[in-house]
Amino acid sequence: RHANKIKLDSVKGEQGRDKDKADRATSELVLDQRTRMILLKMIQRGVVSEVHGAISTGKEANVYGAVLEPEDGGRPIQRAIKIYKTAILVFKDRERYVTGEHRFKKGVNKSNNRDMVKQWAEKEFRNLKRLHSAAIACPEPIMLKSHVLVMEFLGDKRGYAYPRLRDANISEEGTENPWRSLYVQLLGIMRRLYKVCSLVHADLSEYNILYNDNQLYVIDVSQSVEHDHPRALEFLRMDIKNVGDFFRRKGVDTLPDRTIFDFITA
Ligand code: ATP
Ligand code: MN
Repeated sequence: RHANKIKLDSVKGEQGRDKDKADRATSELVLDQRTRMILLKMIQRGVVSEVHGAISTGKEANVYGAVLEPEDGGRPIQRAIKIYKTAILVFKDRERYVTGEHRFKKGVNKSNNRDMVKQWAEKEFRNLKRLHSAAIACPEPIMLKSHVLVMEFLGDKRGYAYPRLRDANISEEGTENPWRSLYVQLLGIMRRLYKVCSLVHADLSEYNILYNDNQLYVIDVSQSVEHDHPRALEFLRMDIKNVGDFFRRKGVDTLPDRTIFDFITA
């Protein structure tokens, strides 16, 4: 068996005490003993073969690149692993998404971080499944274990993740503003998300959309809520506003928020 190699050294922050402090803070925080055990089990089960460095280190989660070397010697498959953090600071913000969300199990101890973080990871996993079933472009969810979520890697063959829409380098050479068709594409996605998945993203912006080759990919759906959540429509209005603001800055002649709201919910 050639596959069971783990390269956690590069991410676990144990390469030396004198390593950059900020670096240690982000990496060590997440890859505690429990997390490493989960990753090792995933390696043993052939979900991934190697875990590489961080694609992104955020306040709620870190996302790592990973590779699965198929046992039959086929082409390596790239994956992304999102590992949620269990630090306290993050959670205050999330209360408003959780309260009123009937999918949050009763009996979850809201003062227990580990419980909460597992719930968010699970919510993201389930939401991704819904999006994927509805053929909305997003990372295909592959496996969830506790606060560790394995999904399809959205990136090129060299291992570079697709840029966020915010950072996308879109040629504006033609006569028509290329952002316009992306705007229309996104409105369609929002409608489908609402109508087919019964979800409101609730943190939709140019930061949580990846771009490649005229295609938009929705990511980061752990806070997304059912459309009967008491604040769903408030979150939807916020999403609509963020999207409108962004595309207006790109010179798109956007529709009024009200019109979009009706288009999505009608
Ligand atoms: P935080 O809010 O703490 O920054 P987050 O919850 O926003 O974390 P995500 O938005 O899901 O986390 O992911 C963070 C970044 O990781 C994304 O902006 C994107 O660049 C990258 N990323 C996430 N998922 C994937 C994926 N499946 N493939 C490639 N890159 C990804
Ligand atoms: Mn995000």
